[in-house]
Amino acid sequence: MSETECSLAVLYDSMRTMNRICWQGSLPPCMLRMSFRLSPRTGAYAQDRGGGDFRIVFNAVHARYQDDSVFLQIMAHEMIHLWQYSLGRKGGHGRDFCNEQIRLGLIQGREIPQDSPMGYVLFLHRLKELHPAEAARKIAADPAHGRTEINYFYRVCKGPNPFRGG
Ligand SMILES: [Zn+2]
Repeated sequence: MSETECSLAVLYDSMRTMNRICWQGSLPPCMLRMSFRLSPRTGAYAQDRGGGDFRIVFNAVHARYQDDSVFLQIMAHEMIHLWQYSLGRKGGHGRDFCNEQIRLGLIQGREIPQDSPMGYVLFLHRLKELHPAEAARKIAADPAHGRTEINYFYRVCKGPNPFRGG
């Protein structure tokens, strides 16, 4: 595995851990991307491209100064959107979104409670010494990261890449 692929493995490990702790592993596979082209106000966004094609795109510029806790809270925010999409909902920051934030322990301006699902996710990251923020920086620093992100997802997370003839 290349260094970029090792870093992608860390990001997907974080997503898998969060999916398992926060949603009993029920969220669908989702491609993770780093982008330098997001507006400076956008930390990340989640996309339902139809046909089970879900993506979370992180702002690679912001990732330069994020620690693991901040990065994981952004990932959790986008995974709540993924949860909405998986239920056939449009997304947005309505009541269902806010209730889910509260359930996970993500209350703005407050520390994440240790006994909340996100508190446990952060604990597991410390225990396993997983550093997704650093991994995100390493991925973004690779000039070929875009192609590697796509290939890694189809090879490791979803089987053969249908866009590359297997
Ligand atoms: Zn949002």
